[in-house]
Amino acid sequence: MTDEPELPRFCREARSQLPALLAGDLTGWSGRVVRRHVRRCPDCAAELDRQEHVSAGLSALKERAPEPPPELLAGLLAQARKPGLRGRAAVPVRGAVSGARPELSAAFLTVGALATTGLGWAAWRGGRSVSRRLRRH
Ligand SMILES: [Zn+2]
Repeated sequence: MTDEPELPRFCREARSQLPALLAGDLTGWSGRVVRRHVRRCPDCAAELDRQEHVSAGLSALKERAPEPPPELLAGLLAQARKPGLRGRAAVPVRGAVSGARPELSAAFLTVGALATTGLGWAAWRGGRSVSRRLRRH
């Protein structure tokens, strides 16, 4: 009886480690021992299965309630309304525009808008050649 590997005490110890095993926190030697015990012990395997379902149910419950607390939402809205925050957020936008030669960007945007119709494209090309001719005189 002294050689019996499935002692109830070992079962209790293994079961106390099951939550850590499920969470993936049980590594190394203790993880190996508990996993090996669960494979050999149907009682502990059933307990692991039960705890797995419980934790899966808990995480499903958490996923089903994604709404942030109302005070957090109110805080975010209040922050978004602050002019200081908006000004700070506009800084990288302003930097991007000044670095990308605004007059060229505007021309590209105009061409893009006109080119959506063949007539618009022809009008833009015609207008450009007229302005060139005018500039030459
Ligand atoms: Zn066991």
